[in-house]
Amino acid sequence: MSPRIARTVAELRAALAPHRADGVGFVPTMGALHEGHLSLLRAARDDNGTVVLSIFVNPTQFGEAADLDAYPRTEAADVALAAEAGVDVVFAPSVAEMYPAGFATMVSVGGAITGTLEGAERGRSHFDGVATVVAKLLLAVQPDRAYFGAKDAQQVVVVRRMVADLGIPVEIVTLPTSRDADGLARSSRNTRLSPRDRAVAAAIPRSLRAAQDAFAGGIRDPRSLTDTVRAELAGLNPEYVEVVDADSLAPIAEVERPALLALAVRVGPVRLIDNVVLVPGLDDRIPLGPNGSDHA
Ligand code: AMP
Repeated sequence: MSPRIARTVAELRAALAPHRADGVGFVPTMGALHEGHLSLLRAARDDNGTVVLSIFVNPTQFGEAADLDAYPRTEAADVALAAEAGVDVVFAPSVAEMYPAGFATMVSVGGAITGTLEGAERGRSHFDGVATVVAKLLLAVQPDRAYFGAKDAQQVVVVRRMVADLGIPVEIVTLPTSRDADGLARSSRNTRLSPRDRAVAAAIPRSLRAAQDAFAGGIRDPRSLTDTVRAELAGLNPEYVEVVDADSLAPIAEVERPALLALAVRVGPVRLIDNVVLVPGLDDRIPLGPNGSDHA
């Protein structure tokens, strides 16, 4: 069945009003849906009576106007995929609906979790934009559960902090990063990679996998692990490669508890991010398919 399309918060609330009893699951996205988004929708479908997908390319989280303009917009195809995934309501508001004239309130999550990694590179205003739009979307949908991808690991930490600090009554569920056969994390931005860039980008998961191999071999020093990543990314000049505490995102001297190994790198016209969590005692390495080292 085709999902209902709601363009305004009023339409969304009216569509959801009769269906709250069996639980509402919510998957916020910027559209251009791929298998990563679908994995979130499947989890939402399994857990809830009603599933809401939002599609909104949020201008307040983009630093570069060119990136915002180039962001793929494929609503008709997204709605068709949403129908297949059993989505009940698609919330696709206009920018004016989300940020009407006179809009003056931003939600700003402070501290180390927004100052490092993406916050250091793109500026804290990126996460102000993320926190503001996620808060607005959670208030609009009022879901029981909201689903986020581990690919945007820092975003999950920021959203969890905001939800706890503001007392928003929602369970945040995190799903693993969905990857292509060669290990590249799926991303709406991948559609902007040329075939050549796409082949180059395969170095990203290879680099993370090399660090996972080193970690499995007993390496616990963040510098050795990031050097391993940088060696695999030779020529790509990453914006950052860092190992931080997985919860606080603070720098660490040694991996003694779960740590986040995260990076950002430009390939052609696109800025890509990826990460893995390194957990002492747990071996959970990225499988690398046909063009990766597992099958080489
Ligand atoms: P986006 O549309 O890129 O803003 O992403 C919407 C949601 O999908 C966010 O929670 C992302 O973390 C998640 N997501 C994006 N790519 C992936 C992926 N490859 N695997 C899992 N989740 C993803």
